[in-house]
Amino acid sequence: MIDLLVAGGGPAGLATALHGRRAGLEVVVVERRLGSIDKACGEGLMPHAVRQLENLGVSVQGKPFRGISYLDGERRVNAEFRSEAGRGVRRVVLHAALLDAATAAGVRFVQDDVGEVTQDALSVRACGLRARYLAAADGLHSPIRRSLGLGVSSGGPRRWGIRRHVQIAPWTDYVEVRWAPGAEVYVTPVAEDCVGIAMLTSRRGGFDCHLDEFDVLKDRVHGHPHGTDLAAGPLRQNVRSRVAGRVLLVGDAAGYVDALTGEGLGIAFSAAELLVGCIVADRPGDYDRQWRRMSRRYRLLTAAVVQASGHPRLRSRIVPAAAVLPKVFAGVVNQLAE
Ligand SMILES: Cc1cc2nc3c(=O)[nH]c(=O)nc-3n(C[C@H](O)[C@H](O)[C@H](O)COP(=O)(O)OP(=O)(O)OC[C@H]3O[C@@H](n4cnc5c(N)ncnc54)[C@H](O)[C@@H]3O)c2cc1C
Repeated sequence: MIDLLVAGGGPAGLATALHGRRAGLEVVVVERRLGSIDKACGEGLMPHAVRQLENLGVSVQGKPFRGISYLDGERRVNAEFRSEAGRGVRRVVLHAALLDAATAAGVRFVQDDVGEVTQDALSVRACGLRARYLAAADGLHSPIRRSLGLGVSSGGPRRWGIRRHVQIAPWTDYVEVRWAPGAEVYVTPVAEDCVGIAMLTSRRGGFDCHLDEFDVLKDRVHGHPHGTDLAAGPLRQNVRSRVAGRVLLVGDAAGYVDALTGEGLGIAFSAAELLVGCIVADRPGDYDRQWRRMSRRYRLLTAAVVQASGHPRLRSRIVPAAAVLPKVFAGVVNQLAE
């Protein structure tokens, strides 16, 4: 019997596998896609996510950024990280680095769909394999979460994200978040000659339709080669519990608020470590409480910003308020960064 079966080989699954190997577990990852996997993502690693990767011994090439800027038509306000820098890293680069590290650490891979998951008091079965525990790292719309009835319907407007790369030298060492009435867009420097642009909105329409709301950005990237678009959503995924017997949810499968604050990878990496700690101690029931405590600050702050952004009058005051209260803005950004 395997110690840990990981369903899904995205960043959360691979980080879980790496922590598992570090703890001396026999780990198998089942992933249906081959090679370096791309995905709709703003590609900004907040400082705590960079730190967690370094702790795992994973080094990634990218572009450091030293803080977050909020911009509307007229204003720009910068919040610098107090600790180390964040890093913009193309998704395929991040995935390749995690994959190499997991392979070198002795993780076994099976290319397949995980399919049905069954369990008894001692083990979990999926994909013809039997394991002591299963980590469901199968993404935002986790089929395993659904099959276990762990999802809860999320109220409020449904938001979506669309990511596009543009071949242009980054013009700033901040992640720029621009606000318009119908969408937010954030630009992350990801390489010497490339920026990632992530559009977030609850309105219908493709990337170019929303880009029309951002004149300055549209003019800046005009005439430079644009990549293809990748979309994801609805972003908000509420989860009742992250544990059902011997199955534990990790990464986006464990619940997601929104991409607006660069939430995602850092929480996934922290959760991977907690999950492995709980199964090594044979106390899977502790994981849900630990996950809630670890992610609480990010979830509350992100939910508050998204909530405010949903009211047109409050929304138009977000950037002016950040400009008038730069220390408060920097404080919030650093709460999310650390
Ligand atoms: C627009 C947007 C912008 C974002 N920007 C940022 C950002 O700037 N910074 C940040 O930290 N986070 C950001 N995020 C969030 C971040 O992308 C996610 O938190 C992260 O990708 C979660 O990784 P994961 O491994 O949980 O899921 P995924 O990356 O989705 O991986 C899940 C994997 O599971 C596999 N899988 C699914 N079902 C099965 C199955 N049945 N059998 C086998 N394999 C299966 C899939 O093929 C996939 O490879 C953003 C998200 C969006 C949508």
